[in-house]
Amino acid sequence: MLSARPADARAAIVWAGLGRYMAGMHATTALPATDAPTADTPTLPILTPPHPSLRARTRKVGPDDMDKVRGMVPQMLATMYAAPGIGLAAPQVGVPLRLAVVDLQPDDAPAPVVLVNPEITRVSEDWAVREEGCLSLPGQYADVSRPARVHVRYQDLNGKVQELEAEGLLAACLQHEIDHLDGVLFVDHLSALKRNMILRRLAKELKQKAAG
Ligand code: ZN
Repeated sequence: MLSARPADARAAIVWAGLGRYMAGMHATTALPATDAPTADTPTLPILTPPHPSLRARTRKVGPDDMDKVRGMVPQMLATMYAAPGIGLAAPQVGVPLRLAVVDLQPDDAPAPVVLVNPEITRVSEDWAVREEGCLSLPGQYADVSRPARVHVRYQDLNGKVQELEAEGLLAACLQHEIDHLDGVLFVDHLSALKRNMILRRLAKELKQKAAG
């Protein structure tokens, strides 16, 4: 899942051009009311390294998986909103399926997007650098360079194929979540030196937290 410092997220949302993508996404991927999380929806534990689920490849969601997926999505959304974060991929909660949820504006009008079997079909030639975090790497942030714009194809909860063009924060978020489905974390886009530094610092902080 992608987490962003709230001030950054808010600043990024006004990034030119993002609004129309959000509006378009909302119109085509609004969840049925029964799938929206409620105050009673349980949240799921978010896995941290070195849990193998974060490094495992995931399986395509098939027609037989859709009932399970529909049952899981409200819990994934509740988990993402509670964290709080703006994206969460199924492997982060121990489920090896190609499934992720994203919502760039959880504080305002919720506009969740559920991505079943998402794939990046086109990327721009120009790249952009953006600070990223991840709910699986709590408290860790680094500048990550990725294609500035992407075209993504995915299925919604009805199995219908959807496509979207994204730029700005949304483009980074989608690439970050789809990376999770291939066992890739944002630190994998950094130098080995920087990656190891962050993972070591995280391990130390998690150990200290566990020790109370
Ligand atoms: Zn993440």
